[in-house]
Amino acid sequence: MRIDLHTHSRASDGTQTPAELIRAAHAAGLDVVAITDHDTTEGWAEAAKAAEEVGIALVRGIEISTKLDGLSVHLLAYLPDPTYTPLLEGLQKVLDGRNARLPAILAKLRELGFDLDVEDVRRVAGETAAIGRPHVADALIAKGFLRDRDQAFSELLSAGRPAYVQRYAAPLNEMLRIVAEAGGVSVVAHPWGRHDPGPMGEEGLARLQEIGLSGVEVDHQDHDSQARDELRGIASNLGLVATGSSDHHGAGKSGHDLGCNTTDPDEYARLLELAAAAAARSERRTPEVLVP
Ligand code: AMP
Ligand code: MN
Ligand code: MN
Ligand code: MN
Repeated sequence: MRIDLHTHSRASDGTQTPAELIRAAHAAGLDVVAITDHDTTEGWAEAAKAAEEVGIALVRGIEISTKLDGLSVHLLAYLPDPTYTPLLEGLQKVLDGRNARLPAILAKLRELGFDLDVEDVRRVAGETAAIGRPHVADALIAKGFLRDRDQAFSELLSAGRPAYVQRYAAPLNEMLRIVAEAGGVSVVAHPWGRHDPGPMGEEGLARLQEIGLSGVEVDHQDHDSQARDELRGIASNLGLVATGSSDHHGAGKSGHDLGCNTTDPDEYARLLELAAAAAARSERRTPEVLVP
């Protein structure tokens, strides 16, 4: 059984529609795929329809932008009730932060000689609620200013580059509680991806586990083999679920092909058990895993 628990569609910053993403996951030989767009559940319905058509198990998730001690932490929330008001409000604040950041990025770009307006970005971004830097990159590419998203990030958009602008992210502790109340389970995405372990070392993860964290994404392209081994050891010590996934973004991010990392079926089964327990405790109506 091949399981990929972290992918993006055009509902956020992937380049495939949710239906295209699900068909590609099926074509890549996956048995289970999670759709985890940034800060939105907008892609879920279309993905569910496509999953039923092609016959692949779909896990509905969200990759939520959070912060812990000023550090950005991406939280994968699986199978929460998407109608739970505190969750909706929490996500809306993040989405508002994304919208507020866009004009600020464009102002910086204009000073640097890249003349783009909000409409240029909206045009390439389509319907997404989660407008982000990759869409700004796509607009720069469409105007012929740059080659690809990689160049846009390394020269302009990454932290420390001249067009970088911060945005709001939800407090991690609060979001862990909200996801649990919504009947979902939480997994930290690429915990050692962009920084040293810091607050995501064994002690930090143990503290987060006490307030509702269920797992860590171990096998991710941002982790080298040593990081994976260490993190797997910590997950095993603490009894956290260890996941693996592609973080696929369609053509938007190279080296993240569907199924390039996968989740062990036993770990997946544990995650589903924890999700079922969280759903029962919450008494919310949570999404089922669509099994073909
Ligand atoms: P944002 O969500 O607007 O803060 O932008 C962050 C997103 O940009 C991440 O979710 C990544 O998917 C994407 N990203 C970061 N670096 C790169 C890169 N070098 N190439 C393509 N996409 C990137
Ligand atoms: Mn992304
Ligand atoms: Mn991420
Ligand atoms: Mn991601």
